[in-house]
Amino acid sequence: MTKEKCEKDAICDTCDESGSCSQQEKEAHNQERLTSRLSHIKHRIMVMSGKGGVGKSTVSTNLAVALSLDGFDVGLLDADIHGPNIPKMLGIESKQVIGSGKGMIPIEVFPNLKVISMAFFIGDRDNPVVWRGPLKHSAINQFLGEVEWGNLDFLIVDLPPGTGDEPLSVAHLIKSVDGSIIVTTPQDVALLDSRKAITFSRMIGIPVIGIVENMSGLICPHCQKEIPLFKIGGGEKAAKDMGVSFLGRIPIDPEMVTDCDRGMPFVMSQPKSEAAKAFKQIADRCKEYVGFKEIEKQFEKEKYPYHFKEKEAKR
Ligand code: ADP
Repeated sequence: MTKEKCEKDAICDTCDESGSCSQQEKEAHNQERLTSRLSHIKHRIMVMSGKGGVGKSTVSTNLAVALSLDGFDVGLLDADIHGPNIPKMLGIESKQVIGSGKGMIPIEVFPNLKVISMAFFIGDRDNPVVWRGPLKHSAINQFLGEVEWGNLDFLIVDLPPGTGDEPLSVAHLIKSVDGSIIVTTPQDVALLDSRKAITFSRMIGIPVIGIVENMSGLICPHCQKEIPLFKIGGGEKAAKDMGVSFLGRIPIDPEMVTDCDRGMPFVMSQPKSEAAKAFKQIADRCKEYVGFKEIEKQFEKEKYPYHFKEKEAKR
């Protein structure tokens, strides 16, 4: 079947006629479907960290929930293939993804917050995913091209820590990512890696929206004094040194661990806490950032219509 005759958005794997397509036609069809799906997503933001355990998935989850509470349509893609924890953080880990002829239906947390994660596809959570680069690329391709995200204002992509295959795949497949958020903790060893993450993001053509300093001080529950458990201020200094925005500091809150384990996002369970305020501030900074990009886009559209058209065609 030639791709012109394909039913729009149909998946080759489930198409009765795909046996008559050449590999090249299938690839062209996949690319077309990916472009079509992505054209329904206004803004794409990647959340990265140089190191594991710094709270990247916690930030991704709370950012996505905060944006959805503001009324935006949000998709959350857990691209951490080896450690997909987002379903647990949202209390949806027992859910099953179902398929339709046109793709997979993401899991709905709210009508305007949808999630897809490797966790939904692993039978036994104790079994590790032992995959090399090409398989991971293919999984991310499917999460982007074969998931029926629908119309989204934001797609938040939670990447695995480090600077490996997955961010490269996302950058290659999505092409126009609006920007990245780098999550770090304040101690020197984490900061060293987060500086690498900033350079990496720039190298792959993704502008850095800013740095978040997580686990930044602990308020003693007894004397209310701040204890600089992992030091304080390193993330802000790194932001200054590297010429990127500082998006805010999130203190250590022991209740966050409990809420996270019981699948309750902190912006909902403790909306008045300092940490929840910090998450909301990060969401506001993202809105401002994409707002400026919209204005820039409008300006370019009016002033340089030819270049704008060319750029849009590549999106
Ligand atoms: P990463 O995605 O970077 O590996 P996670 O988001 O999975 O890190 O967080 C690791 C653990 O740290 C989780 O148990 C989470 O609840 C906890 N955590 C993250 N940020 C904070 C914080 N500010 N205060 C207390 N616990 C936190």
